[in-house]
Amino acid sequence: MKGTSMSHFSPVSTLYSMLRHPHVGREQLVAFQNERLRRLVEHAYRNVAYYREIFDRHRLKPHDIKTVQDLAAVPITSRSDMQGLPVEEVVARHVKPQCLITRASSGSTGRPFIVRRTWMEERLHGAFALRALRSLGLRASDKLCYVMGLRSHQRQDHQIVQRMLATFGIARQMVVNALQSPEEIVRALHRFRPAVVSGYPGVLARIAQTISSEELRSLRLRFVNTGGEVLTPLMRQQIQDGFSVPVCDTYGSIEFHLLAWECRATGEYHSCDDGLITEVLRDGIPVAEGERGEIVGTDLLSFAMPLIRYQLGDVVTKGSQACPCGQPFSTIRSIQGRMIDYFVLPGNRVVHPYELGVIRVPWIREFQVTQEGLDSIVMRVVPFHRPSTQEMAALVQPVVELVGPDVQFRVELVSEIPMDANGKFRVYRSRIRSAYDGFEWPDHRDVGRKNTG
Ligand SMILES: [Zn+2]
Repeated sequence: MKGTSMSHFSPVSTLYSMLRHPHVGREQLVAFQNERLRRLVEHAYRNVAYYREIFDRHRLKPHDIKTVQDLAAVPITSRSDMQGLPVEEVVARHVKPQCLITRASSGSTGRPFIVRRTWMEERLHGAFALRALRSLGLRASDKLCYVMGLRSHQRQDHQIVQRMLATFGIARQMVVNALQSPEEIVRALHRFRPAVVSGYPGVLARIAQTISSEELRSLRLRFVNTGGEVLTPLMRQQIQDGFSVPVCDTYGSIEFHLLAWECRATGEYHSCDDGLITEVLRDGIPVAEGERGEIVGTDLLSFAMPLIRYQLGDVVTKGSQACPCGQPFSTIRSIQGRMIDYFVLPGNRVVHPYELGVIRVPWIREFQVTQEGLDSIVMRVVPFHRPSTQEMAALVQPVVELVGPDVQFRVELVSEIPMDANGKFRVYRSRIRSAYDGFEWPDHRDVGRKNTG
């Protein structure tokens, strides 16, 4: 375990375990978690300055953390603890930061954060997400289409395995730009003929409401997968009615990739327990089943930039220790995570706020973007330092190019961004229309309310 940066576990054995885990008992899954956790903690202590420092400060040694229960001794890391630290302090030594794939996130907090993973770690996280889609009904020969923003390609993130598999007709995937009009998106879907479409619930609900059901039915999808933001019961209904197929929700974040996926038998979400340890805490204490708390995660697949007891900022309702369907995964009953509005602009154009690209700006400590009117978007920013004219222009210009000259984009520098009156914080909000205004999750959803198949 010492020194070498890549060989903390073999990717092959990880994939093998991953495929077996849905069929093993709970104890075996927990044993796997404990074993991975010990390796992760040992590695982080030896190789990552940030964790070495907090362990030393709390007089902890790696051997104090043997099981998931022992994790409680490790201090929780919030976004602001890691945000702004030099890269060298949060990635393992021996790892060259420039070789890592970067992903930027603001989660539900409005605090930008950059996550870094190796190529292999990216693929492993992706494999866990694919396992979830498979359990929801995706077959190896199916075409899968993501309706999402077009990510700028990173040289480190080459897709060689993906291309090889696609040559053999396995795991064929494509991305359709979510920024297009619903008509254009549906035309692209008709060209590609996927079996499964995956995308933001807001975007898919909009398509379902705009395009005739007949045209959507002729796509002959098997199911629609939603993710990336909160799926309200109304959105679920709209997508289900429009596409005439079941809707299966997955819960992910930039930091951890897949956190949980919907159980087709119970409607709860299976936590991805072999990919990460999920704690649901209120004031640092684990909540009981059926209670709400904040997600704190420990990634068992990320060794280049470990995340141990990282506070994600999403609020969820804790479910059972192991899913009543018989799979060994613990469950999340419901997710009150990211309520992200897309912005409807003049000319009925739509911009999903993730496309604004504002989270990769290094001088931003915290932000909130609000569409105040059809032609006006305001971004409130708590900066690390007062930005120079060039820094400000680098933030504003791409947004202005994206939204066009008929929309005014204004940045306000503030010292604090207040929460909503109900204590929630919404990073991206539209005052024109929102699927989330006045929406409250019931504490308990009707378990067994649906059984899609
Ligand atoms: Zn289940």
